[in-house]
Amino acid sequence: MAEAQRQRRIVAVRRLSEDQLAALSAIAEVEYFEDVNEANRADFLSALSQAHGLIGGKLQFDEAMLVEASSLQVVSTISVGYDHLPLEAMNRRGILLCNTPDVLTETTADTAFALIMATQRRLVELANLVREGGWRSHIGREHFGFDVHGKTLGIVGAGRIGAAIARRGALGFGMPILYTAASSKPVLEQELGAQRRDLDALLAEADIVCLSVPYNDATHHLIDADALARMKPSAALVNVARGKVVDEPALIEALRCGRIRAAGLDVFAEEPLPADSPLATMDNVVTTPHIGSATHETREAMAQLAVDNLVGALAGSGPLTAVNEDAWRRTVAEAKGV
Ligand code: NAP
Repeated sequence: MAEAQRQRRIVAVRRLSEDQLAALSAIAEVEYFEDVNEANRADFLSALSQAHGLIGGKLQFDEAMLVEASSLQVVSTISVGYDHLPLEAMNRRGILLCNTPDVLTETTADTAFALIMATQRRLVELANLVREGGWRSHIGREHFGFDVHGKTLGIVGAGRIGAAIARRGALGFGMPILYTAASSKPVLEQELGAQRRDLDALLAEADIVCLSVPYNDATHHLIDADALARMKPSAALVNVARGKVVDEPALIEALRCGRIRAAGLDVFAEEPLPADSPLATMDNVVTTPHIGSATHETREAMAQLAVDNLVGALAGSGPLTAVNEDAWRRTVAEAKGV
């Protein structure tokens, strides 16, 4: 191993393939943690204190840990969302943050659509009826669901994933599309006839409201009791964004009293969802355990992109997909006295 490689250290958290670990090992000494838990936390922190690069998914990484990680230059998260990382503090330190957009967009949109289908057609509730021996005669009105095709789909956050959900809805199911976003989306408007609304108008008009915004201070509890009260009583809420975009107690209350009809949720305020959460057992709620991007193909592609980002940032021409490349380049230039 060349001297530069021997001096460079990477901490990897999350299972990577042999090829991916080999790619990291070619540029640095790698310390590998399949998971970080109470038993190995001290070892992880010790490794982190010397690391130049960190790669992993769902890394719970706070400002205090950043202080300990005095050599850290690059964090490569195996996710597109980075609300679990202290971006402002990383910017101040000039630590590069790489994420994995695009490669998970279509799979996450598939998950959203699975939740849309399941909530409208009551798939889990009725599958359980069969499983539990409750299907004894013809299905009557009390078990009817609601159409998906032709219903108005409201996309809150029409970015990469939101646009992919909108395409499925408009092109596959003939759904009129409404959307919110920080900026207008002329391509979606032209391709799909999508119409931009402010949030209150979208909530009032949509039959299905689908959340695909990033989680940050501005989107914390974006869907609160007031927002839920604006929705149609017949409407369903689908969340593939982050749990805390929704005020969960307010959602539970709205679902209990029929203020909205149903919810399909992939993400929760606390994960794993506590077993005693009402959301786990309500008939009008479909829950999945944060599986938005969780297919073999997509998780592999995400891990590969995260590895390529880290190798590119530490030893190559730069990262492929970074969140704060400008802040990082400024710090690198300052360190070189440029
Ligand atoms: P993206 O391309 O950045 O899209 C985010 C969209 O939200 C953009 O259209 C943005 O508007 C809009 N937006 C931002 N703040 C807003 C606000 N306050 N109100 C309304 N719209 C707002 O991100 P993405 O790749 O689609 O991913 C979106 C999020 O999905 C991620 O941040 C992550 O948390 C979540 N996610 C979850 C899973 C899962 O497993 N369930 C998987 C992948 C991603 P502009 O376009 O105008 O900037």
